[in-house]
Amino acid sequence: MQEQYDIIIIGGGPGGYTAALYGARAGFKTLVLEGFAAGGQLGQTHWIDNYPGFPQGIDGFTLAQNMAEQAHRFGAETKYEQVTALSLQEAEKQVITARGAYRAKVLILATGAKPRPLGLPGEEALVGKGVGYCAACDGMFYRGKTVVVVGGGNTAAGDALLLSRVAEKVILVHRRDALRATKVYHKALLEAPNVQILWNSAVTKLHGQEKLSAVTVKNLVTGAEEILDAQGLFVSIGRLPNSGLVSGQLELDDQGYIPTDHLTQTRIPGVFAVGDVRTTPLRQVATAVADGALAIHGAESYISGQK
Ligand code: NAP
Repeated sequence: MQEQYDIIIIGGGPGGYTAALYGARAGFKTLVLEGFAAGGQLGQTHWIDNYPGFPQGIDGFTLAQNMAEQAHRFGAETKYEQVTALSLQEAEKQVITARGAYRAKVLILATGAKPRPLGLPGEEALVGKGVGYCAACDGMFYRGKTVVVVGGGNTAAGDALLLSRVAEKVILVHRRDALRATKVYHKALLEAPNVQILWNSAVTKLHGQEKLSAVTVKNLVTGAEEILDAQGLFVSIGRLPNSGLVSGQLELDDQGYIPTDHLTQTRIPGVFAVGDVRTTPLRQVATAVADGALAIHGAESYISGQK
């Protein structure tokens, strides 16, 4: 027997829980399915200063918990079940999880994105043994050590600053001669006494069997290579969308994100995509939250049109 909902949301980040809040408040029987813990990437973000309403900023985990709690207050349910398959073509969408099966009138994909790996030999084997993708989660293991951060965007800049407060030395390796990160980070990074920036450079090799011990860094202009002793490497080079569940059923853009209309509805009526998994020019907590609200606005019209 498949449990029936009006709205099923896959993923419990800010987009997912805003959709859950709006859906439950509108009187829909609403379920959030998520793999492990609430919050998605937000739950792993050390500090959020650009989500309005928190003048002193707020840590990502607390904000994520609050969003979930607020949605639950209006009756939204959460089940921690990994979704393994979806069937989207029928009017009733079917969701198969590791534990059961569900049906819904509306499905909202809020599956977010995951870190992009460097793709170097040995990288996967060294994850958790020196190689990491979340400085806010693992940074404290590098107290007094030397860490390398790769990337030039906001994540890399934020990670390098966060690590500079813990590690003895932070080496930021970026493939260009300028950061893509917002200006607010530039001065702080250049002024941090223990942060060194290697411009026009790439990490080309990881050293260490059981644990990372060093990395090879290549200067992309001169071709010169040097081996830097480092106990930690944080790869902060952007994200890949978690769109694998729908890849055969929905057309994806050339980066693998899910295109939608202005109300976040995909090509399949009744199927919406919100937050970082959607094709959008900006991926922030504020934009994910807005997507969640728009999706329910679209879902309401869709459901009333079905009656
Ligand atoms: P991003 O803005 O896409 O930046 C990725 C960085 O990694 C770029 O500097 C890119 O280099 C570099 N890169 C990509 N592939 C690489 C490779 N294979 N090898 C070496 N370097 C590589 O990603 P992000 O920093 O994770 O940010 C993602 C989104 O979240 C952005 O919209 C960002 O603004 C947002 N965000 C916001 C905040 C904040 O506002 N506080 C914090 C974190 C993230 P190029 O510059 O050469 O392309």
